[in-house]
Amino acid sequence: MTADHTTSAPPALTCGACGTDPADPLAWRCPECGEPLELPADALNPNDAALSGQGVWRYAPWLPPMIPVSLGEPTTPLVDLAVGGTQVLAKLEAAQPTGSFKDRAAALLVGWLAATGVRHVAEDSSGNAGAALAGYAARAGITCDIYVPATASPGKLTQIAAYGARVIPIDGPRQAAADAAAAAVSAGVVYATHLWNPFCLAGTATWAFEVMEQLGGPPDAVVMPVGAGTLLLGAARAFERLRETGRTDRVPRIYGAQSSGCAPLAEAFARGTADPWKVTPTPSAAEGIMLASPPRGREILRRVRDSGGAIVAVPDDSLWSALGELARLGTYIEPTSAVAPAAVAQLRASGALRDGERVVMALTGSGLKAGDRIRDGLLRA
Ligand SMILES: [Zn+2]
Repeated sequence: MTADHTTSAPPALTCGACGTDPADPLAWRCPECGEPLELPADALNPNDAALSGQGVWRYAPWLPPMIPVSLGEPTTPLVDLAVGGTQVLAKLEAAQPTGSFKDRAAALLVGWLAATGVRHVAEDSSGNAGAALAGYAARAGITCDIYVPATASPGKLTQIAAYGARVIPIDGPRQAAADAAAAAVSAGVVYATHLWNPFCLAGTATWAFEVMEQLGGPPDAVVMPVGAGTLLLGAARAFERLRETGRTDRVPRIYGAQSSGCAPLAEAFARGTADPWKVTPTPSAAEGIMLASPPRGREILRRVRDSGGAIVAVPDDSLWSALGELARLGTYIEPTSAVAPAAVAQLRASGALRDGERVVMALTGSGLKAGDRIRDGLLRA
């Protein structure tokens, strides 16, 4: 990366809906209309700068300026697997330092926080994002409070606490932890929310940059779990920027996989609505994507539709069969991640994915994070 890149100040955030420039540079959403804040459109900037190293920071010259905070992110492997008889390329995000794709988001989020001089943050998470933020905050010497649903996997809570973060369990649905974190933010504590912060999407953009380099071009389709859409939107924006900057002339069809226990986006997609459908979550093993009101739901639906893809919902029994099938192929993923291979099987059966297409599936997190849940779920399935 160039000296210019890391010594420049990070760009200011602007409301993506009403254009307000918040007076507080660390505001977590628009103070006027409550919609998400965004980076400038050209903050994601695929250019001719020389790329070096691997993983997230390989793309530093294409990312907004900040202090690169690294735990040694790799370029995650692409492994071909047969899922329900369909040949797909699985991108193994469990290879990231804290065991999930959220490290891409946390690396940039903490890089921005460090460049802005923040010393104490609060965040809400069902587990993976909290672990990622706690790990990267530890690396950067930032104090961290994580609000978690009381029902989150014990392995994830242990991981968060081991990094030195304060873990605050909150009873009730996933949204209750988000509300508690936002409410707890007071003077001196910044709400570092992966659900809202646009630097997280610049981080997950690197998933798509890696796929493009690994394949020498875009795949025909990508399939990934979607809750808040951190990965899906980062990847969709990245593929679009690669097209806009002339690095490819096409973008892949984007498929999102939800749990049928909480499928506001799949419902909206099926019904043709522009906004997420109002749903009441029912229990599911896909704990990482149980989000009834994704802040950027409208953009997710628009980008998926524009790409020619779809959003589908997967019941838990399909999730468990997919998890078991992958494990018997030597790939151990957490239950939330298993909605992706389950969706591949579903999309193949419906004809949405066709013979001979190059399909990349994101396997977002490690099974090692949820051993107790997998023991119970696989025995039951
Ligand atoms: Zn606004």
